[in-house]
Amino acid sequence: MNTERKAALRDIPSVDKMLGHPGVKLLMETHPRPVVVDAVRESVDAVRALLRSGEEVASDEVSPDALVHVIEEFVAKASEPSLRRAINATGIIIHTGLGRAPLAEAAREAVKAASGSCVLEIDRETGKRGSRTVHVEPLLCELTDAEAATAVNNNAAAVFLAMNTLARGGEVIVSRGQAVEIGGSFRIPDIVRRSGCRLVEVGTTNKTRIEDYENAITDETMLILRVHPSNFRVVGFVEETPLEELVALGRELAIPVMDDLGSGALIDLSEWGLTGEPMVQESVRAGCQVVTFSGDKLLGGPQAGIMVGTREAIDECKSNPLARALRLDKLTLAALEATLRLYRDPCEAAKEIPVLRSITASPAEIEDRANRLAEGLVSVVGPDFEVTVVGGVSQVGGGSLPGQDLPTSMVALKSPGLSADDLSEGFRGHSVPIFGRISEGLFLLDARTITDEEVEVIVSRARGLGEN
Ligand SMILES: *Cc1c(COP(=O)(O)O)cnc(C)c1O
Repeated sequence: MNTERKAALRDIPSVDKMLGHPGVKLLMETHPRPVVVDAVRESVDAVRALLRSGEEVASDEVSPDALVHVIEEFVAKASEPSLRRAINATGIIIHTGLGRAPLAEAAREAVKAASGSCVLEIDRETGKRGSRTVHVEPLLCELTDAEAATAVNNNAAAVFLAMNTLARGGEVIVSRGQAVEIGGSFRIPDIVRRSGCRLVEVGTTNKTRIEDYENAITDETMLILRVHPSNFRVVGFVEETPLEELVALGRELAIPVMDDLGSGALIDLSEWGLTGEPMVQESVRAGCQVVTFSGDKLLGGPQAGIMVGTREAIDECKSNPLARALRLDKLTLAALEATLRLYRDPCEAAKEIPVLRSITASPAEIEDRANRLAEGLVSVVGPDFEVTVVGGVSQVGGGSLPGQDLPTSMVALKSPGLSADDLSEGFRGHSVPIFGRISEGLFLLDARTITDEEVEVIVSRARGLGEN
């Protein structure tokens, strides 16, 4: 290290000295002291690391005044919210990384209304203590024709609670083709064991018949579980036992049957060309004791695990002491109630619930939005950018309807100076991060999963692209 650099290192202002700088004192007037002190430490460390790295550093870059600017940047960064809004232009409608289902406007308003004091567990007529599930149970029964219903923290919790209530200490029979993993931490065999039950797998990966279930039943059998394989498909020489046969077998031997639907649709999506997603109503009608599904997959509401079924089974689940540990908070309940209300009119639901709106959007509507986005981008990005509207496919995501691709329109961006990764990083770096996808060297923005209002935000971000 040369003497000049050594001198520069020695001359870096101390943390104490910087804390006395008028610029830093000013920051303390508008920001919490510990945040500013941390920023001062970090910036002094950053300058020291820079000098040690051997990079060329001009002396005025390490002056106290220059350091104040670095400190301001650190403070600004530390003051930003972490869990911030984002724009999903990936074309994956239920995107787990981006918070799964965006809430309907009515659900957002309901969350706001319930944020303060609300009638969560009190009956306004009698003034007496009530139950928090009354806000969603009647709606769930009305929409699914079930006798009883409740909701917990998420579907994983619903499956866990139901098994722990109905089959703890006993055996749970599951088809080999359904002992699946749904995203990293939810594996059917693990959940069965953790709920205090023994897993009995029957049949083979591709074929499981009713005789396989019959032969596996013992005195210890306490539950027959059917699981929707979600993001996993076996095609070709396959056979699963129809739910009706499982229910008939269960009735004969007084063994409850539970159906974990995962996504579970409340309205028939075949009108929009999507087939194969089972409807909740069908599983209820088939006679299952418990049917479970997520609040934030196809339903398009908040994260929740919904349980519908017979009065006896649901009441037993509700009175399990673990139900308290898995219960929903008031904000989620408010959003769930508002989302369910929209389903009273299926046309209204398809229009108002963002997940359903994205699924049911017409090709013309999506193409129109893509064209508007492309026009907006062309007007701001500079002549060396190539902006084109291309066809492609969107996906439902969230383990719903795998392999069912929805034709879509996307805006493809290409620039001689920026790679697709650079573009992706640039869009993510916006104060409202924008997420697209990369395919064959192109950065793509799918018009199916964005709103008209978000078109404007994306265009405003693109203005500065390539300049920073
Ligand atoms: C997604 C899914 C789950 C887990 O639901 P979460 O709401 O994510 O907890 C459980 N079972 C099936 C079949 C699923 O698809």
